[in-house]
Amino acid sequence: MDKKTINDIDVNGKKVLVRCDFNVPLDENGNITDDTRITAAIPTITNLMDRGAKVILCSHLGRPKGEVNEKYSLKPVAEELSDLLETDVKFAKDVTGESAKETTESLENGEVALLENVRFDAREEKNDDSLSEELANLSDGIYVNDAFGTAHRAHSSTEGVSHHVDEAVAGLLMQKEIEFLGGTLEKPEKPFIAILGGAKVSDKIGVIDNLLDKVDEILIGGGMAFTFLKAKGYDIGDSICENDKLKEAKSIMEKAQEKGVKIVLPKDVRVSKEFSNEAPDKLVDSDKIPEGYQGLDIGPKTFMEFSQELQNAKTILWNGPLGVCEFEKYTIGTEQVAEAIAQNEDAVSVVGGGDSVAAIKKLELEDKFSHISTGGGASLELLEGKELPGIACLTDKIKKNIKKICGKKEITQENEEKINQEDKEEIQK
Ligand code: AMP
Repeated sequence: MDKKTINDIDVNGKKVLVRCDFNVPLDENGNITDDTRITAAIPTITNLMDRGAKVILCSHLGRPKGEVNEKYSLKPVAEELSDLLETDVKFAKDVTGESAKETTESLENGEVALLENVRFDAREEKNDDSLSEELANLSDGIYVNDAFGTAHRAHSSTEGVSHHVDEAVAGLLMQKEIEFLGGTLEKPEKPFIAILGGAKVSDKIGVIDNLLDKVDEILIGGGMAFTFLKAKGYDIGDSICENDKLKEAKSIMEKAQEKGVKIVLPKDVRVSKEFSNEAPDKLVDSDKIPEGYQGLDIGPKTFMEFSQELQNAKTILWNGPLGVCEFEKYTIGTEQVAEAIAQNEDAVSVVGGGDSVAAIKKLELEDKFSHISTGGGASLELLEGKELPGIACLTDKIKKNIKKICGKKEITQENEEKINQEDKEEIQK
């Protein structure tokens, strides 16, 4: 369902509370080592500033476990934001206390403030209603959720707050994530190919199950491939395997066959006796991995097959590395797949998961992908077909009934009010 966004509401002169995902990596001196998450929030912030809003930002950073811990202060983020926005971003020293109230009260139109780490307050992760209300009261009844990365968590600042405001809408980053991840699954152009990797089958079973009704093919690599290969009766040596998931892997392959979905597993793998970058490695066929060896990356025959399949796709969804990407030697498969997807310029390509995204960045291929998701856990849950609390709590755009309600199609101010009234009644039902 389409959600209302910041562009659907009037924000001029109003205090607007925006939940961002500023959970950035810091080095031991508290310096931000990667500001991708901060730059991803800029379009929403500048949109609101340009439209005269008094912008109040909030976020979590790390796991301070409900206690004030300077190590996780958002102050460095306020400084980085000031540089990026070329304006002074005011910093509140608490979440909803005196400093937050004073700082947000003093905002002029177009100005920005950042609250201290919401997880310094123990009520945040409990989705405590009193904190939700205090956060909402800092605003003039407008809440924007732009933190896709935490949308799968029902916390005070990601979900609870929405029940205490007049408008709860999506920010531009959130809108993009919903459009690409949700939209790709709803109306994919065919052939639709998913490529999945990563360590465990158990993390991705829900995703595969949901994808079986939507995709034409699933290419499987990474550690999870070995559970499938073993389920087929192959010798996988000492490769990583979830023995308690063999039955499920078998049943996925059977279901795929019934539904006409092709599952492509590695034909060959790069193996080693040790889980390290230094030990010697060799290539073997995936049905004959010798005792004492473990598979650590896909081999060239597998890559050729994956690459050929990917060239025909019109929609590509990729999540998870095809090998042990922590070791330089075993990043080849993942990087080759990133390049193969980038070469198919006709396809809509959507990527999620830290390791896959890191490979794309390393190769500087970001521009060749239609969408790079900012949320790991959240994107997987969306791909599983789950409803994310941080999205579900936002106001729906219910304009399908225009004709029924107004007897005509165009929206005038008069019938817009009528539609909104009907929407409210429908939501209350
Ligand atoms: P995930 O968090 O599920 O996306 O998995 C990422 C992890 O999968 C990375 O830490 C990789 O090292 C690991 N991985 C990928 N391929 C293999 C493999 N063949 N054997 C063991 N671990 C792997």
